[in-house]
Amino acid sequence: MDSELVARWDRSVPRYTSYPTAPHFKPSVGAETYARWLAELDSGLPLSLYVHVPFCRELCWFCGCQTGVARKDGPLDAYGARLIEEIAAVAERLSGRFRVRHVHFGGGTPTIGGGRLVGAAMAAFRARFDLEDGAEIACEIDPRTCTTQTVEALTAAGINRASLGVQDINPEVQRLINRIQPTDQTAAVVAALRGEGIGAINLDLMYGLPAQTVARVERTVEAAHGLAPDRLALFGYAHVPWMKKHQRLIDEALLPDGPERWRQWGAASARLAALGYTAIGFDHFARPEDPLARALAEGRLRRNFQGYTADPAPVLLGFGASAIGALPQGYVQNAAETTAWNQALRAHGLATVRGVALDGDDRLRRAVIERLMCDMAVDVASVAREHRVAPEALDDAFDELRAMAGDGLLALDDRRVAMTETGRPFVRLAAAAFDAHLHKGAARHSRAV
Ligand code: SF4
Repeated sequence: MDSELVARWDRSVPRYTSYPTAPHFKPSVGAETYARWLAELDSGLPLSLYVHVPFCRELCWFCGCQTGVARKDGPLDAYGARLIEEIAAVAERLSGRFRVRHVHFGGGTPTIGGGRLVGAAMAAFRARFDLEDGAEIACEIDPRTCTTQTVEALTAAGINRASLGVQDINPEVQRLINRIQPTDQTAAVVAALRGEGIGAINLDLMYGLPAQTVARVERTVEAAHGLAPDRLALFGYAHVPWMKKHQRLIDEALLPDGPERWRQWGAASARLAALGYTAIGFDHFARPEDPLARALAEGRLRRNFQGYTADPAPVLLGFGASAIGALPQGYVQNAAETTAWNQALRAHGLATVRGVALDGDDRLRRAVIERLMCDMAVDVASVAREHRVAPEALDDAFDELRAMAGDGLLALDDRRVAMTETGRPFVRLAAAAFDAHLHKGAARHSRAV
């Protein structure tokens, strides 16, 4: 792809882990609405649970997560106690005892403090919910602070999938992002996890970091492959210093430009494909036998706040500061800052401060966007029929899509949209063509590639 073309489509768009996206959530959906939505849920529905742990021992400068520094364990224990209260408060508003199919611990560093928060939350979940046999219980891990005791605590809590941040193995890149992590350290944690029976391993890599080159990204892919992960995520660094102030410590002069980011993504993707991984959406890769690859092959791949998932549960309940929940009625989000989350929980019994109730148009556009983001193709007319609306309901999207088709990023056949291999990394732009909320409001997003 030539530089001019990359520059033409180098735009900022949402990642579409929900639709409408979080910047369009409104304060009119708060604790009272969430309580009503919880009470309305049919107790036969399986649940997914997400726990956010907003603490790290120090900040990596590239980080875009909702987190803060906790050098001591006191704040962790206080947070853990509130978390248990929130789990009880949510469970008490449900109409019965629900089954749970999937649990995910994200952050921040959920394993901070030796995994004590993971253990406490899992005990609270087991007391309030029925974990299905074979439920996936996943946890994000910072290998730099993961000790033998942490691994034992995770095993005792029932964790069966681990996601480890790697980013780039090059020492200069690591220095420039304030994350020194020798590959041996990552390998030792992977071995310890496997030794304790946590066999499903995900590794997170990045491109677009300061001083990254195609060669460095390729070496990182090779090193990651050497650890035999089941899945790899390949995230583009999102430089949003107006939202994440610590990113101002990144030297912007060393950031790869749009065409170079595209070359890094292309080189890493090609290498991963050659190594036998199946491309999942625009930023994941999985072994063909992994549940994510099987879900893709069977048309069951989903997208939620953790990214791509094989989890079919129709309800995701979020716990902890900034956590987002997805219910059949709409989305809810907790207060983002730990103090505000704590205060909201105490004042209203639930920590919800924003959200959105879905209307018919939102549901239609959400379905089209999710299929496009997951399958790299969508038959808009067919989705419209499923939603009992006329096929031309979303024709407003097609001017932009025709322009993308003209540049070879996608193919159009009547109202069927299919990304080309060249266009795969630009799928968020195609999804944005269906986003009726995008240009309302002042939200700024990360680059498409
Ligand atoms: S990348 Fe992970 S470990 Fe680093 S600051 Fe962000 S959440 Fe913490």
